[in-house]
Amino acid sequence: MEYDVHIIGGGLAGSEAAWQLARRGARVRLSEMRGGGDSTPAHQGAGLAELVCSNSFRSDDSDKNAVGLLHHEMRALDSLVMTAAAAAQVPAGSALAVDREVFSAEVEAALAALPTLTVVRERIDRLPSAGLTIVATGPLTAAALADSIGTATGASSLAFFDAIAPIVYRDSIDMDVCWMASRWDKGETKDYINCPMNLEQYRAFHQGLLDGDTTEFREWEASTPYFEGCMPIEVMAARGLDTLRFGPMKPVGLDNPHDATPEFPQGRWPHAVVQLRQDNKLGTLWNMVGFQTKLKHAEQVRLFRTIPGLENAEFARLGGLHRNTFLNSPQLLDRQLRLKSAPHIRFAGQITGCEGYVESSAVGLMAGMMAAAELVGRTWTAPPRTTALGALLAHITGDAEAESYQPMNINFGLFPPVEPDVKKKQRKDAYTQRAKIDLAAWQEPTNFD
Ligand SMILES: Cc1cc2nc3c(=O)[nH]c(=O)nc-3n(C[C@H](O)[C@H](O)[C@H](O)COP(=O)(O)OP(=O)(O)OC[C@H]3O[C@@H](n4cnc5c(N)ncnc54)[C@H](O)[C@@H]3O)c2cc1C
Repeated sequence: MEYDVHIIGGGLAGSEAAWQLARRGARVRLSEMRGGGDSTPAHQGAGLAELVCSNSFRSDDSDKNAVGLLHHEMRALDSLVMTAAAAAQVPAGSALAVDREVFSAEVEAALAALPTLTVVRERIDRLPSAGLTIVATGPLTAAALADSIGTATGASSLAFFDAIAPIVYRDSIDMDVCWMASRWDKGETKDYINCPMNLEQYRAFHQGLLDGDTTEFREWEASTPYFEGCMPIEVMAARGLDTLRFGPMKPVGLDNPHDATPEFPQGRWPHAVVQLRQDNKLGTLWNMVGFQTKLKHAEQVRLFRTIPGLENAEFARLGGLHRNTFLNSPQLLDRQLRLKSAPHIRFAGQITGCEGYVESSAVGLMAGMMAAAELVGRTWTAPPRTTALGALLAHITGDAEAESYQPMNINFGLFPPVEPDVKKKQRKDAYTQRAKIDLAAWQEPTNFD
């Protein structure tokens, strides 16, 4: 069959994009390599939209939780993943968890019922040179296609491993302890938040890193070498007591104004410093520079809250290192998820640098709607930035810092801040209520459907 759009990858994002397109009558070819003799190291079967690990879509609370809000918004836009999840739901408190076999079967059945959709079990090795295409091949994109994407984007813009440093909400950092400065006061602006440590605090922290429980690499990830630039902080700590003080915790050139004396009116250098750098244009999220880690999440929260100034830190994301193919999307993609250098190619799912089942599906949903609009000569208007969909899309397509871009879950730090006089306890409600009102207004008939 002739087709209007070629979708490569029948995982969560590809299946959702196919649904959004074909239910609007677009002719779609969905190429999925599983079931055609190939697989990835993580998938077990040939079903479309297979969940490779946990069976949870996380919190379903759309009043208090950013991912729950994303569920709500996707349901409002007739998401196949959300409909299939409802049909496959198993009890999990306030989380949305599913029977993975039933879930995948529901997705397959819904797609099979669409007359303009053809699922082909084939591996695609090269980016098509023409024709509307959505690449949704996920974090474990097959090697030949990854090479072809690397050629199109420049190899340095396609990562095969993430090295995630924790990200802290700016308003949870104690600025009575920390201070803003660049090393040696270079540049016109004071770009970093600096957390000072004395000798005793540093020694205890160093020991905490050595003693901390870490997550093991999966068997097929273990052979991936560390780059010096993205070595886990605990591995660096194991090289010697002072290794970190010559690396990411270097204190030189950082006068701490909270430690000024008559002799040193500008302040003195601490024994060690943890630096945080702005991570998004809104300035709400700050990443801990050089703190990529495989420490277990609970261990990270406990240990990183011993850092002076971060005692009450709230984390938008915790650190990690995984095998993960993803693009430097803020640099490479336009606001419609198209490759700037080859606009017939659109990317969707985790390969864009979003992180998680729900986020990958949400980006697939938006990519499908964008392509559907393009087919009829229109441009899809994204939901406002105050919604979860709008915030996620804006982050991926330009608002995240390209230099430090790493995979990201949906979280309230990606949203424009609510009014500062909203009490902390009520902020989550304020974010979700604003999003719901704005999404309802956006769904006016003036927008594409
Ligand atoms: C091991 C692992 C565990 C994870 N666990 C979780 C978790 O528990 N919870 C969570 O929220 N997120 C998890 N993630 C992250 C992420 O949410 C999932 O990977 C998610 O499935 C991504 O959706 P996707 O549609 O982008 O990619 P996928 O669901 O991986 O779909 C991509 C599809 O493309 C196919 N494909 C690849 N290359 C080609 C090619 N060249 N030609 C044709 N087809 C191709 C693949 O077979 C696959 O079906 C995990 C990731 C990994 C790698």
